[in-house]
Amino acid sequence: MEKINLKALWIEELESFLDKLGEKKYKAKQLAKWIYNKGVTDFEQMTDLSKELRRKLSEVAYIGKLKLTRKQVSKIDQTEKFLFELSDGKRIETVLMREKNRVTVCISTQVGCALNCIFCATGKSGFERNLSAGEIVDQIIAVKGYLKEDEKVTNVVIMGMGEPLLNYENTVKAIRIIQSELGLSISAKRITLSTSGIAPEIYKLADERLKIKLALSLNAPDDELRRKLMPIAKKYPLSEVLEALKYYAKKNDIRITFEYVLIKDVNDSEEQALKLAKLIRGIPCKINLIPYNPIKECPYKKPDEETLIKFRDILYPRAPAVTLRRSKGEDIQAACGQLKAGM
Ligand code: SAH
Ligand code: SF4
Repeated sequence: MEKINLKALWIEELESFLDKLGEKKYKAKQLAKWIYNKGVTDFEQMTDLSKELRRKLSEVAYIGKLKLTRKQVSKIDQTEKFLFELSDGKRIETVLMREKNRVTVCISTQVGCALNCIFCATGKSGFERNLSAGEIVDQIIAVKGYLKEDEKVTNVVIMGMGEPLLNYENTVKAIRIIQSELGLSISAKRITLSTSGIAPEIYKLADERLKIKLALSLNAPDDELRRKLMPIAKKYPLSEVLEALKYYAKKNDIRITFEYVLIKDVNDSEEQALKLAKLIRGIPCKINLIPYNPIKECPYKKPDEETLIKFRDILYPRAPAVTLRRSKGEDIQAACGQLKAGM
């Protein structure tokens, strides 16, 4: 019989697994805490379980673990990029960012991405497969092992490789594990999911009432340009996506974040800034402006400093909150849109 990977199961599944073993269901919580909260992979370390149960578990189950194949540290800002190998040999990237008293882990949800946005390295590499909930969560558990002694993970952003809402079930399950006290114990307001705008799944996510923050990769002030930059916009026009976002904001009582990658001579004009301000009028939101990070597959450039500032100054105070983000870990290709795991 093939052994079962417990770092894929959450409470109800652990309960039914224990039930089949002839064990009491309440032990599922103890087991979950060891696997996800303490990050233990050896049953022998689970000291509050009986010796007999530990032996039984090791006969029928194991606790999967990502294999670190490379770790790079940025010389500019201490950002770290982890390349992990999955059990089938495929590779993903995870990024650790430090800022004041914040330690943020940026996690992937798919190997590659099928959506092929023209400015994104992940998109260029094509889609290979979805990550399991265990593989999504395990990125944080693994990175925790490399923190300095006085550090802990304070924030999680689901903004790495892949479109999280096209791996819906596994991503939602992973978020539940990340939030739970038995899991990573990171509160909803410190978790942000970024999507390219899969409207039906945004409604579904809203109804889960997870109360996590939601970010939309907007990148253009109108459908015409957006369709050129992000092919998925042909399927879900802005009017539909914005309606879905309003629903999400209302149901979860949060502000939406709009991410706008600024690309020289593509979407950085004054006219486009004004149009953008108009587009999002009436939506409780903030805007993150991200200067384009050059990737070698694309000819685009980032706007000069003056253009960036001007764009920001047109938007604010027309939009309620605007930040011009400085990208992290550019020297190690760890910044937004640069992840491709050597694919
Ligand atoms: N697929 C999801 C989440 C991962 S992409 C999404 O698209 O939202 C995370 C963010 O990186 C997106 O906001 C995307 O617009 C941005 N991004 C992609 N390529 C980039 C690049 N070359 N420079 C800067 N940001 C980029
Ligand atoms: Fe996929 Fe997001 Fe990159 Fe677009 S920006 S290709 S949706 S990862």
